[in-house]
Amino acid sequence: MKRADVVIIGGGPAGMAAALSARAHGAEKVLLLERDNTLGGILPQCIHDGFGTLIMKERLTGPEYAEHFARLVQQDDIECLPETMVLEINKDLSLTAVNARDGMLPIQAGAIVLAMGCRERTRSQIMIPGSRPAGVYTAGTAQRLVNIEGLLPGRRAVILGSGDIGMIMARRLTLEGLEVEGVYEILPRPGGLTRNVVQCLEDYNIPLHLQHTVTAVHGRKRVEGVTVCPVDEQRNPLPGQERYIDCDCLILSAGLIPENELSEQAGVKMDPFTRGPIVDESFAASVPGIFACGNVVTVYDLVDYVTQSGEAAGKGAALFARGKLPPPEPLTCRPGENCAFIVPHALTPERCSEQVNLYLRVKETMKSVRITVKSGSQVLASKREKIVKPPEMAVVKITADKLRNLSPGTDITIDIRPVPEKEAK
Ligand SMILES: Cc1cc2nc3c(=O)[nH]c(=O)nc-3n(C[C@H](O)[C@H](O)[C@H](O)COP(=O)(O)OP(=O)(O)OC[C@H]3O[C@@H](n4cnc5c(N)ncnc54)[C@H](O)[C@@H]3O)c2cc1C
Repeated sequence: MKRADVVIIGGGPAGMAAALSARAHGAEKVLLLERDNTLGGILPQCIHDGFGTLIMKERLTGPEYAEHFARLVQQDDIECLPETMVLEINKDLSLTAVNARDGMLPIQAGAIVLAMGCRERTRSQIMIPGSRPAGVYTAGTAQRLVNIEGLLPGRRAVILGSGDIGMIMARRLTLEGLEVEGVYEILPRPGGLTRNVVQCLEDYNIPLHLQHTVTAVHGRKRVEGVTVCPVDEQRNPLPGQERYIDCDCLILSAGLIPENELSEQAGVKMDPFTRGPIVDESFAASVPGIFACGNVVTVYDLVDYVTQSGEAAGKGAALFARGKLPPPEPLTCRPGENCAFIVPHALTPERCSEQVNLYLRVKETMKSVRITVKSGSQVLASKREKIVKPPEMAVVKITADKLRNLSPGTDITIDIRPVPEKEAK
């Protein structure tokens, strides 16, 4: 049986940050398990820039950002087991992993950090009818083919879904000489960040068709075309308005799902909205000794937020393993007006560092708003935003001293409301 103070599952940006932070907070033996053959998670295939704008104050590419942290992990002498897949975790903090060198590998941890990232929705999850030819890819698979394997997925593409990866791939495929006929989005608004709508679609004259979907895929061996159709308010295709498009590949960018089979198996309580574990300020999940960070908790927009969550989880895990994490006495974070969810879900003031970030998404787009964090009538933090949109995560900082006089069990609510006209002026 292998033993470690802190075992981290997943060597993406979240897992690497957790490993470094666990070591910095006194965990002697830190073990990082990664099923791929390199560290970095999804980043090595994201060759566009825009990573690290908050933490590094520069626009790095994905591989550069990953390389920076992989080097620190190596310098810190953290034990990494690549090509090692974790199959099972248990409430007693034991794990089973497997690799080609050791076979089945039983491990006992003092604390576990879940950092398995997320995966893309596939064709069967969004239920597109039609035949089953080659040439239907998720955007991440197409990205891997082009950026890592050096292969093109086709010559004329249709993209379904306007998530960030889909829009980034629309630009990438155009740069590689494919014709991108258009991006089709079932919602009345884009699914990804505004900066990607501008930089990846508008700058390259790639049309974005809102309130449209693909209703059929045609072709036997290879995609020969797709049928697209506008949809009504309930997202039902409008009969008689179908249009056939000649293309040889369909790229899907229809959402990401946190990778939580292991978490569920260990009995960790999940948030049905984020589809990730319910966590507190240390990113501790409901099972004592299990922590979670990065996209396994919620799909973050920016890798910087992923790294920050990894740092908090790594610190919490190291303190837990050393018996130094104060017991939970949580205040519960509750989404109020126009707030879809808040991560973390709870805060124990005694565990909080000076400042805690609350990450949230709104339900509806709203212009000129104030985001207010309150406990009863007491305002704990508040900030103005020109515009808030569901695809763009908002972050509110709250100082720990504001939390200290609140009694355990108190609710903290976040409301997003339009700024009254008088105040707006
Ligand atoms: C295409 C794309 C473009 C992006 N563009 C930007 C951008 O421009 N700017 C920005 O800031 N952010 C961007 N992001 C977001 C950012 O890259 C991600 O939020 C971040 O990589 C998530 O990190 P993670 O560590 O949580 O997950 P991942 O990077 O997915 O890493 C998870 C790791 O866990 C491993 N794993 C999973 N299960 C197991 C298991 N059972 N056993 C062992 N290992 C396991 C996986 O192999 C993987 O290496 C982009 C993301 C994508 C996908």
